[in-house]
Amino acid sequence: MIISFWRRLLDLISPRLCVVCGHRLTVTEEVICTKCNFHLPRTDFHHNAYENEMAKLFWYLIPIERATAYFYYEPHSSTANIIYQMKYKDHPEIGEVMGRMMGKELMPSGFFDGIDGIIPVPLTKKRQRQRGYNQSEEIARGISEVTGLPLFGKVVKRVSFKGSQTNLGRWERNENVEKVFELIDGATIQGKHLLVIDDVVTTGATCIACSKELVKANNIKISILSLGFAKS
Ligand SMILES: [Zn+2]
Repeated sequence: MIISFWRRLLDLISPRLCVVCGHRLTVTEEVICTKCNFHLPRTDFHHNAYENEMAKLFWYLIPIERATAYFYYEPHSSTANIIYQMKYKDHPEIGEVMGRMMGKELMPSGFFDGIDGIIPVPLTKKRQRQRGYNQSEEIARGISEVTGLPLFGKVVKRVSFKGSQTNLGRWERNENVEKVFELIDGATIQGKHLLVIDDVVTTGATCIACSKELVKANNIKISILSLGFAKS
């Protein structure tokens, strides 16, 4: 990597900090320092992408092929800050950088083989306007850069948001996200193997609801990828 004079100068004036430990990043590091990256609690689900804790959430509910997440997500842990900063602190670049990192690590395992395109889980129009970006789309952009897979950003939309889900149990949540997605362009995805991308998967309810809309396009296969996986 060629580090420009300007990048070095900028780093000098306004040092970039690791999102996990808060230490200063070197000119070649992005978002997370080498040490924190090394210690990320990786799920390594991609080594067994068809049959793992996360993939099982989707069995019998949608035509699931493979599923993996980059790391285990635990609220209030140091790694949770990656998600927090990305979602709530106006740092869309974290999504793209982490997407690239994840893409590079998963490529050799064949995780992306046979996949035709990427579907980031959409936000409602209102939420996206408030935030200014969709974090799942940022992750998807990073994955797309590394894999060359096309991004299908306008195939499905999120129609309503029924309040916070944090205080609901698993089945209530399932209920809550049902019918909040709407397929708007089935022709583009017909017969395709799609990679659905979310920031964190907990019960899988959001990805399931989104995928149930996608499969209306006929002959669809689904794989799922997220940054974090929270054990529910
Ligand atoms: Zn660090």
